[in-house]
Amino acid sequence: MEILSTISFLVRPTTLNLPPTFTHGLLLGFLAIKFILLLILESYCANEVRVLLGRKGGKSLYLAAIWANLRNDVLIGPPMYHVVVTYICTQGPLTRAEQARSVMGILVVEGLLFFWIHRAFHKVRGLWWMHRFHHKFNDVVLPSSANAVSTAEFVFAYMIPILIGATIMNADIYSTLCATYIIQITNLFIHTPFLEGHWPSSKQNKSFPGWVFVGTSDHLHHHRHMTAHYSAPVFHFDRVLDGSKTESGKQK
Ligand SMILES: [Zn+2]
Ligand SMILES: [Zn+2]
Repeated sequence: MEILSTISFLVRPTTLNLPPTFTHGLLLGFLAIKFILLLILESYCANEVRVLLGRKGGKSLYLAAIWANLRNDVLIGPPMYHVVVTYICTQGPLTRAEQARSVMGILVVEGLLFFWIHRAFHKVRGLWWMHRFHHKFNDVVLPSSANAVSTAEFVFAYMIPILIGATIMNADIYSTLCATYIIQITNLFIHTPFLEGHWPSSKQNKSFPGWVFVGTSDHLHHHRHMTAHYSAPVFHFDRVLDGSKTESGKQK
């Protein structure tokens, strides 16, 4: 009976045709939770913050990071969210199985597009200017540097891949929000130095989940060396698409 009720739960269309104010509330609630989590993680990185602030130009760089977080998450993100809700997301209703498929599909599409766009920032002449600001945080990486990206990078590498993923997957608002939450939270984790060697597992790169998912150590390696680990923040596509690079990021 339990199996039958589980199957029924998965295939029954969701009836969450809630008013737009509710879905906007979901976004605002998530933003609040994300900023609280960011503050908690940042407070555990107080030593790294002190090192950055003690450097020449460190204070203005840290202020620029805070401004970039507010600009991207508060000024640019919500209007783009409104576009996604209004013009991209299907009204459904989708079954829970369809929603799960949509979430997974958005994560895969977003991950693949981010990998190629991010790699292009590093390898295609003329694109580096969009990514330069994020790599000002190379030896001192902080949770707040996760969204410390230029407006162009935020739009082209962060938002548009999610928008394309939601379009391809014919996702509803809940699937799109869920995938966005996963992307935003894991992006914080891969920029949190004390999680190096622990996220997503202590057995980095050797077996599941370390081989499949981007680890904090992978992304910090990218910040330090800029030669590999272009994938972020969920699936590690480099291991399949950029196989000529070794785990250390050096060409074989
Ligand atoms: Zn980064
Ligand atoms: Zn980079």
